[in-house]
Amino acid sequence: MFASQVKSLLKQFASPVLDGLGIYDRQLRKMPASSWTIVMYHRVIDDAAADPFELGMCVTRRHFREQLAYFRRRFSPIGMSEAVRRLARGEPLPDRALSITFDDGYLDNYTVALPVLKSFEMDAALFVPTGGLDDDTPLWWDRVIHTLDATGEELLLPAELGIPLSGEPLSLGPWKRAETVTRVLDALWTLPHDTMLEVLARMERAMPAVRRVAPVARRMDSRQVLAMHQAGIEIGAHSVRHSNLNLETPAVVRREMQTSRQVLETLCDAPIKGFAYPAGWKNADTEAAARESGFDYAVSTISGVNHPNSDIFTLARVGMPDTSVADLKRALVSVIQRTGTHGKS
Ligand SMILES: [Zn+2]
Repeated sequence: MFASQVKSLLKQFASPVLDGLGIYDRQLRKMPASSWTIVMYHRVIDDAAADPFELGMCVTRRHFREQLAYFRRRFSPIGMSEAVRRLARGEPLPDRALSITFDDGYLDNYTVALPVLKSFEMDAALFVPTGGLDDDTPLWWDRVIHTLDATGEELLLPAELGIPLSGEPLSLGPWKRAETVTRVLDALWTLPHDTMLEVLARMERAMPAVRRVAPVARRMDSRQVLAMHQAGIEIGAHSVRHSNLNLETPAVVRREMQTSRQVLETLCDAPIKGFAYPAGWKNADTEAAARESGFDYAVSTISGVNHPNSDIFTLARVGMPDTSVADLKRALVSVIQRTGTHGKS
């Protein structure tokens, strides 16, 4: 029995039993009325093959629908900008406010998630990297995922490819490949963006596709981003290249923020108020840059629930698991128990 299987069994069977006993509801009722929960999604998919390594970025359409129904019943949904505007004026948020966010601008947000959001009349904010928006260019980590999914190689050699991991070969066998992908992605995030792209191109050349797998994840183009805006979805910036901003110079950080903001403002002919730090990488300098780049707020990937006094430029979020509502409640309870309400003064 593998750890991931044990975890999955717990999610499938233990969470519903504990939920049936009302244990999670009792814990969640203790959430302060003034709490502000911001949930984070990336992809909403129909086909499990689109998520070969289960890296936590995909939720099925069925789970997404169940989760939104639960939010409608138990929370007060509110748009990101509306919540920020009220806090800036010292106005209270509705009790147990909840905002929905999507990062990265995947095509399935438009084709799959948008109709579900509409059916529940829920607002959402979408943070879109602007680089290559109309070139059908995949996001760089999706190229890594696709390459390692489709390769016939059984071993990955970090030293030969220039991946900063210890020299030992990493297994791409069925029980190890998800762990290997995670290790490779974690290592690539530590490289300057241009160096990382060189390593990635080397990996693609060394490991050509031989297996038929799901196509690389597609992004929305600018027409679809505009259609989301016109459908009432708030569009936010997410940099141009989606690099690790902690590794960039202050000038590049500002350019990444301001260029992405301007591109989206021109596209939507509307102010862009929010920024999401790419992959959550941020420090005091990037927070200052976000304030100075004219945004009203910025969301991080710090796991937690916010409070009216939370720092509006490091808002915490809760990543949504690809699970039933029972297990979603377990995830929320565990975030609250671990972190309390983030930024409480
Ligand atoms: Zn992102």
